[in-house]
Amino acid sequence: MNGFFGRMQMRLAGWMQGRHGTDGFSNFLVAVAFVLLILSMVPGLDLLSWVSLALLAYSLVRCCSKNLAARERENAAYERIAAKPKRQVGLLRKKWENRKTTRYFTCKGCGQTLSVPRGKGTLRVVCPKCQTETTKKS
Ligand SMILES: [Zn+2]
Repeated sequence: MNGFFGRMQMRLAGWMQGRHGTDGFSNFLVAVAFVLLILSMVPGLDLLSWVSLALLAYSLVRCCSKNLAARERENAAYERIAAKPKRQVGLLRKKWENRKTTRYFTCKGCGQTLSVPRGKGTLRVVCPKCQTETTKKS
């Protein structure tokens, strides 16, 4: 711990005192920059590497920023925009994980995703959101 890397780690921790550090938005920026960097290998799209570099630089500036209020506002705006896609990805992941035990379908009344256990025959399902009643084969 007291070797070269331990001392560097302590110095870096001291330097990062009072700075913003990473958050969801900066992680998102790094991920997008990485995807753009991969895409820039396609012939004709080489300018994307500069966009990627700009995103990485912006992410680094955000991490080292001492203006915590502004960074929190940016992150809150990002979280607000990303909430719905994150929820949809979470639902898709859950559908995939439970595909053998649960059957998913959409309510015809309100569009809510409903689920019934598989292999229980024909079930009467009442939507908890709009009370629409349907019969589903599970
Ligand atoms: Zn419904």
